[in-house]
Amino acid sequence: MFESVAEKLKIAKKIVFVTGAGISQESGIPTFRGKDGLWRKYDPMKLATIDAFYDDPKLVWEWYEDRRKNILAAKPNLGHVAIADLEKYKDVRVLTQNIDGLHQRAGSSKVYELHGSIIKIKCTVCDFKKEITTSFSKVPPMCKCGNMLRPDVVWFGESLPQDVWTEAIIQARSCDVMVIAGTSLAVSPANTLPLYAKQNNAVLIEVNPEVTQMSNAIDLSIRNTSANSLPNMVSIFEEN
Ligand code: NAD
Repeated sequence: MFESVAEKLKIAKKIVFVTGAGISQESGIPTFRGKDGLWRKYDPMKLATIDAFYDDPKLVWEWYEDRRKNILAAKPNLGHVAIADLEKYKDVRVLTQNIDGLHQRAGSSKVYELHGSIIKIKCTVCDFKKEITTSFSKVPPMCKCGNMLRPDVVWFGESLPQDVWTEAIIQARSCDVMVIAGTSLAVSPANTLPLYAKQNNAVLIEVNPEVTQMSNAIDLSIRNTSANSLPNMVSIFEEN
């Protein structure tokens, strides 16, 4: 662990993590844009937009059912666990673009799901919402009001849940260290969160084996995977 990263983490009052698909890659969940990325197999515009959903609700539902099965069978990895363990020493918030719930399952208690959750569904018309962990025998499932149900996730072109986004900006603006782990920062508005942190003169640390479009604005880049690097951030505090 870089001396300077350790120093910054030790004096930090609040550490905010911005995470993406890459942090779950080592749990066996494919990313969108990595070499094993989901998009390599599917056309992104065919599966994660509202138009695609109304064009072919069965196909979109089958994709999410398949992803939910894979995600529920996956386990949090050392990266997720390290972020949860850091809560023993610091005020930690997790702003995640992931819909897999692995941060919560690893024990993180303050997680903001910017893009919703794969275990949540909602009605396309009324305000019915529900958590599910099983599969449906017939898709698309219908709501009691007679309309189709949909995954409660944010599709490309849709806006983020206002309350979650407002809270995410508050957290980004009030941290003194932001760790950006496992995200290409290609998706907005999540990719503006580091700019809010900079408004508070926060130190930006990036954990990613690859360069991202914000790497040149990052203070400290760790070119490694999250499962390899994040546990070192916890051992800084365990050594004392
Ligand atoms: P992305 O695929 O665009 O970027 C993934 C990033 O993670 C890449 O920069 C890659 O270099 C990096 N990476 C790959 N393996 C890594 C590892 N082991 N450790 C650290 N970094 C690693 O994904 P994104 O930036 O999250 O954004 C795109 C969208 O993907 C988001 O809307 C998100 O909701 C969605 N998504 C979520 C999941 C999930 O819930 N797990 C899975 C796939 C896609």
